[in-house]
Amino acid sequence: MKITALALTAGMGVLASTSASAQGVLNVYCSVQVEWCTLAANEFQKATGIKVSMTQKGSGETIAQLKAEAQNPKGDVWFGGTGDPHLQAAEEGLTEVYKSPKLAELHPWAVKQNSDSGGKTVGIYAGALGYGFNTELLAKKNVKAPACWADLLKPDFKGEIQMANPNSSGTAYVAIATLVQLMGEDKAFDYLKKLHANINAYTRSGTAPMKAVARGETGVSISFVHDGVTEALAGFPVKTATPCEGTGYEIGSMSIVKGARNLANAKKFYDWALTPEAQKLEAQAKQFQVPSNKNTPVPAEAPKFADMKMIDYDQARYGKSSERKRLIARWDSEVGSLPKP
Ligand code: PLP
Repeated sequence: MKITALALTAGMGVLASTSASAQGVLNVYCSVQVEWCTLAANEFQKATGIKVSMTQKGSGETIAQLKAEAQNPKGDVWFGGTGDPHLQAAEEGLTEVYKSPKLAELHPWAVKQNSDSGGKTVGIYAGALGYGFNTELLAKKNVKAPACWADLLKPDFKGEIQMANPNSSGTAYVAIATLVQLMGEDKAFDYLKKLHANINAYTRSGTAPMKAVARGETGVSISFVHDGVTEALAGFPVKTATPCEGTGYEIGSMSIVKGARNLANAKKFYDWALTPEAQKLEAQAKQFQVPSNKNTPVPAEAPKFADMKMIDYDQARYGKSSERKRLIARWDSEVGSLPKP
């Protein structure tokens, strides 16, 4: 999805385009929801006069695009998306070292993402994995809401669960890596094979399953729980839970593309995106991850990590290129290729 940020009022149009041409351009690959991508692009353009061209794609899709374009980079900044593929991109030389002066203002988990990557990526938000469910649909079917990973295997949920495909979606990879860390790899794959019997679709985008829950197209999703808050606030009968056995989390990240044609503007965007002013746009766009700058107010609606049983997700290990490729290939051959139940 390609969006060009434009000055929205007619009066500002000429002014903005004049200053935009003076200040140059910036191509941003964006892996959060499109509402936040658009708002960030518009506000950065307004603040700096830099003309932003924004393309929204999932985390797995964006790293594939960066690889395909490595000899002729078209993007300048990759904003958002799960941390593992940002770490993989760093290791594979697809992104650039940058030490922002804003690093000192960030939570330790966001800074660690920077040091784990040799300075090539940084945390911009954190979000926990869990389930979304449609309360009306489950009540109609007389099914109790899932509270544990084990619940998802019950026959009650046959054809009722949606999750994304880890090739395109960073969310789905976090789910697989979480299960591997909780259960051990072979048991996690046994679990995923059993879960397949209850899955109705593996979607391209990580946010699609929660949207399907909201619309009543599926009873349950495996999703980041902050996405459930967005749907509930929009008036849909959606609730969320985090698994009783424990769950994982993402460190949503940002990186500068290696060989960026608009490097100076990319650094300006990167510094801006780490400020509380820019991070407040997230809640304005009705997105409820935990922001990485210590001075950004955490939205009251954001799911509270302290209330969840959280695993010590090994970002460095599961963001390793060989590990991510291997686990996704195993999922493809043992789970994704299974016939539809
Ligand atoms: N949207 C939101 C709100 C997210 O928190 C994330 C993860 O960083 C994504 C989208 C990533 O989407 P995908 O799973 O398609 O890579």
